[in-house]
Amino acid sequence: MPEQRLTFVKYSKTEIYVRPDGHNEGVIYNLYKCNCGNLYEARQRCVESKAQSSTWSCGCLKLENVKRINDQRKNVHGKYNKSKPSPTKGRKAIMVNGKRKYLKLEDYLIYLRT
Ligand SMILES: [Zn+2]
Repeated sequence: MPEQRLTFVKYSKTEIYVRPDGHNEGVIYNLYKCNCGNLYEARQRCVESKAQSSTWSCGCLKLENVKRINDQRKNVHGKYNKSKPSPTKGRKAIMVNGKRKYLKLEDYLIYLRT
């Protein structure tokens, strides 16, 4: 479960929400202060319910998660590039009996001469 970053500051407003079955429901909005310093207006019930889908921050928590996932991807990609250099890097492609072969430059020059 994520940490709750929002701290109650003050009551903001109540909006009347009409449910599909016709019932009116008062939705309470409060002003919260996020750990990152942002003021954020959120539904009281979303902040106080301790569920994965609750509101846990002004949005900075989501941004950090996205950044962390991107960083992890970058690391994996970087390792992949290091451990697997392209086998054709700096080589010349020639066709031998209909098959593509890659020669080192020095071998390629010998091949050209023969
Ligand atoms: Zn925040």
